[in-house]
Amino acid sequence: MEKVVVLGAGESGVGAAILAQQQGYDVFVSDKGQIASSYKDVLTKYEIEWEEGEHSTSRIFEANTVVKSPGIPDQITLIKELNAKGIEVISEIEFASRYTTASLVGITGSNGKTTTTALTHYILDQAGLNVGCAGNIGDSFAKSVALQDKEGYVLEVSSFQLDGITSFKPHIAVLTNITPDHLDRYDYKFENYIKAKFRIVENQTKDDYFIYDKDDKVITDYLKNNKIESTQLPFSLHEKVDEGAYLDNDTITITINNDKLIMSASALALKGNHNVKNAMAAATVAQLLKIRKATIRECLENFHGVEHRLESVLKINNVQYINDSKATNVNATYYALDAMKAPTIWIVGGVDKGNNYAELFALVNEKVKAIICLGVDNSKIVNAFGNCVDDIVETQSMKDAVNYAYKIAERNDNVLLSPACASFDLFKNYEERGRQFKEAVREL
Ligand code: ADP
Repeated sequence: MEKVVVLGAGESGVGAAILAQQQGYDVFVSDKGQIASSYKDVLTKYEIEWEEGEHSTSRIFEANTVVKSPGIPDQITLIKELNAKGIEVISEIEFASRYTTASLVGITGSNGKTTTTALTHYILDQAGLNVGCAGNIGDSFAKSVALQDKEGYVLEVSSFQLDGITSFKPHIAVLTNITPDHLDRYDYKFENYIKAKFRIVENQTKDDYFIYDKDDKVITDYLKNNKIESTQLPFSLHEKVDEGAYLDNDTITITINNDKLIMSASALALKGNHNVKNAMAAATVAQLLKIRKATIRECLENFHGVEHRLESVLKINNVQYINDSKATNVNATYYALDAMKAPTIWIVGGVDKGNNYAELFALVNEKVKAIICLGVDNSKIVNAFGNCVDDIVETQSMKDAVNYAYKIAERNDNVLLSPACASFDLFKNYEERGRQFKEAVREL
């Protein structure tokens, strides 16, 4: 019997193991760390063998195929040894795609993946299509293929998942943007990360579609220098396009085969320029799939976004509190500040990822009245923005940060948590950071 070894027992590893088991493989799951008890229960339920705390190479080297979880870098010795032995190492989305004929929409990018994926799925689902939503969001793709029976999937795809593909081919690919991220996994070379993102189109042909941000110079430069087979559909906030989507004043126009959907950007439930882009990308997908225009418009007017992404929490004394905890890099925070329409008290900080704060100076000068630093790398923030605002303080807990914001806030201000940093100094993850923010706000 063919042997599949799954490395890593998180959402994608466990999903791959279930699918492999269902497909009749001899499956073994190996995780060097501790496996969460909920996942152990699932593996046990499906009678899948597993180990934790080590990688037993003797067993792993017997594999015909190794499915590697996205958290495991290619650079580790085990993966190098597998490569040297010629054992196939693939990602979970590659593995899953081999066992489904469902039509795939694959959405990648440095920022905006989850929002665009959720919005796209929402429109297709509301239109009555039998589509699942999977990948980096919710259930893994492999688990969905094993346990659901969908005609299509909208997939949120990370660069780490794309690193391990050979034949994965979305019929419609979306690339929201590319800014430097995760460079530790790409030999600190931005060009390697760009190439990884573009693998989303590598198996596409001219009958497949590539939807991308035409305002992103990294993307357009790549397209100038590299030929891709897919039919291209750009979206832009600044430039008219014949096919694809663009914004002109407040009007969004989306054209597919000369057929136009027109709607007002101010009618979108999601706020901010970045969300106009996300909406244009999602609506382009929907229009390609021939969803009724009235349905697309209605969905865009009703979809209020995903938790922790510019999420309105409460209005207290006419001060709006906004949770953008998912902004773990400078680019995401740029768009959050850009979306602020009122004087803003900005809670920022955490684990600095080599941030270049200069990109934010103009916006901070224009919109921010006070900065509340929260995290291990506060001093870098104080140094960067000390000249931009009069009021800049350092705090060490979410409660203190929110209480200080409350103390200085005046009617019509915004209080925005948009950290531009990772959360691992004070919190388990960005979700916990966002939840603590919301709790502290509710306790005011
Ligand atoms: P991802 O899944 O790629 O991390 P999310 O939709 O979760 O993307 O959003 C992550 C952060 O980036 C949030 O703070 C959000 O407000 C911001 N964001 C969302 N869409 C975009 C975009 N198109 N460009 C830049 N920032 C964005």
